[in-house]
Amino acid sequence: MYFPQYRPRRMRQSETLRGLVRENRLHPDSFVYPMFAIHGEDVRNPVASMPGVFQLSINHLVEEAREVAELGVKSVILFGIPEQKDEAASGAYDPEGIVQMATRALKQELPELTVMADVCLCEYMSHGHCGVVQGDKVLNDVSLELLANAAVSLAHAGIDVVAPSDMMDGRVGAIRSALDQEGHTELPIMSYSTKYASAFYGPFRDAAESPPAFGDRRSYQMDPANSDEGVREALIDIEEGADVVMVKPALPYLDLIYRLKTETHYPVAAYNVSGEYAMVKAAAEKGWIDEKAVVLETLLGIKRAGADIIITYHAKDAARWLAEESST
Ligand SMILES: [Zn+2]
Repeated sequence: MYFPQYRPRRMRQSETLRGLVRENRLHPDSFVYPMFAIHGEDVRNPVASMPGVFQLSINHLVEEAREVAELGVKSVILFGIPEQKDEAASGAYDPEGIVQMATRALKQELPELTVMADVCLCEYMSHGHCGVVQGDKVLNDVSLELLANAAVSLAHAGIDVVAPSDMMDGRVGAIRSALDQEGHTELPIMSYSTKYASAFYGPFRDAAESPPAFGDRRSYQMDPANSDEGVREALIDIEEGADVVMVKPALPYLDLIYRLKTETHYPVAAYNVSGEYAMVKAAAEKGWIDEKAVVLETLLGIKRAGADIIITYHAKDAARWLAEESST
């Protein structure tokens, strides 16, 4: 039925009618807040390209995580800045590594908070690549053992979810079997299955101090031109034991979020990355956009595309704004 019999505007006349037919809603239950843990006492280093984001020593990390939880965001994902980097990424699987210590502190102080950890080697490697390097090559199979060690070490520290982000082939299977052998059969794996070699990661590398010392990550992260391959990567990771698959970044890859949701029938996470955050913050600082409206519309767009889980630096603000909206 078409105009004049059918008029779509009829159901847009009031907020009540619009609410009745609203198809998607944002809720802080879907949000995961990324946090950066650093050694030291009383450290709170602002990340220049990400206003509102800090590298935090454990005391401040716990304080901020408490604030996050009070806002209704029930999950955080941890990244670590180690004291020393080497060619074996020892900090990634050191029982006294920064993320292991942060995990123990958070689980002790805030047992209700779900603590996830990124599992990768780049932050702990002197060369900044996500795997073991020989010459100018990033080696796949020897990297798997280190990644599995990192996941097991985080499991021992009490982590609730491990999230491998390295894009080595076979890592989800390697991590799953290592966890199972150590008795961590119930620990979920959220795989960065569909992770693109993106220019939008720039500000994160300031935050995590992990730019590659040579070359780039295009021999392991995906080509932004590819869509079928992104679905295939997700299906492979599911075969290997992933419980959640992920698309990263989010905004330039909304089509992949939709495809993973409709083609895998698994929970899908989307990572609204540092560059996406920095652009919004910069434009808002200049007064060129309405930050609250743009952030909520962005996150709703990611949700509408099919994401169940949204990892975002906007999580605290968005949770606060959603609470204000529901109380008016
Ligand atoms: Zn990495």
